[in-house]
Amino acid sequence: MRFHRTVAALATLGLSLSLAACGGDEEGGSGGGDTFKIGIKYDQPGLGFRESDGSFSGFDVDMARVIAEGLGYSEDEIEFVEAVSANRETFLQNGTVDMILATYSITDERKEVVDFAGPYYVAGQDLLVAADNTEITGPDTLDGKRLCSVTGSTSAQKVKDEYAEGVQLQEFDSYGKCTEALLGGQIDAVTTDDIILAGLSNANPGELKVVGAPFSEENYGVGLPKDSADRDKINDLIETAFEDGSWEKAFNDNLGDSGYELPEPPAVDRY
Ligand code: GLU
Repeated sequence: MRFHRTVAALATLGLSLSLAACGGDEEGGSGGGDTFKIGIKYDQPGLGFRESDGSFSGFDVDMARVIAEGLGYSEDEIEFVEAVSANRETFLQNGTVDMILATYSITDERKEVVDFAGPYYVAGQDLLVAADNTEITGPDTLDGKRLCSVTGSTSAQKVKDEYAEGVQLQEFDSYGKCTEALLGGQIDAVTTDDIILAGLSNANPGELKVVGAPFSEENYGVGLPKDSADRDKINDLIETAFEDGSWEKAFNDNLGDSGYELPEPPAVDRY
């Protein structure tokens, strides 16, 4: 009995050693000195944003840096590439980028063509309206109203599926264009995740407000090409970032004034 247990223990040890060796090989492969291309948003203040001096800021950008560094890339080996909602799957499938952090919700439909690590944040779909708007209080008050959302987002899809009957849906390819249209009065509301809307509202002080009645759960994942060898490692890096304060710092540095508190870290889904 005792002997058998020892054999079993040794067998388990052998297995974990060979798995560790395997992980080590993958690490070497991914951090091999090539440029690591990361898809981010350019028009979401606080999340993924291209500043006027050409630098990049945001919670997604800082989380991307933490992950890239953990994979073995130095700052000058990282290349940020603009991704919009509709081209994220394509960018991962055709190798335009190696990884995406762009308020990218994990969904079963997307999982058919790409993989996800995470989630590293949970948002909820909400509405952005003019600061003096009192008519729009939730998705069920949109009948006859002009609503902007971004093509290829879960937000546009949800409105189409669940609320589009009386709503006039205007789709653009970026959040910047939706915000312009709202500020210009061509539309009545913008819909997407609350944390994105908070950034857009803060960038236009006194002019816009988030309604504050979220109607979905959006689990932000790290988008990866299907069957990426880095997924486990990135899940580990996300959990480490939850524990060592770098996730909290990335949130507070970029979204500390968003009106949203740092939540409890979500449970990583190792599907
Ligand atoms: N999180 C949602 C999505 O992945 C909406 C935000 C976005 O378009 O990036 O579609």
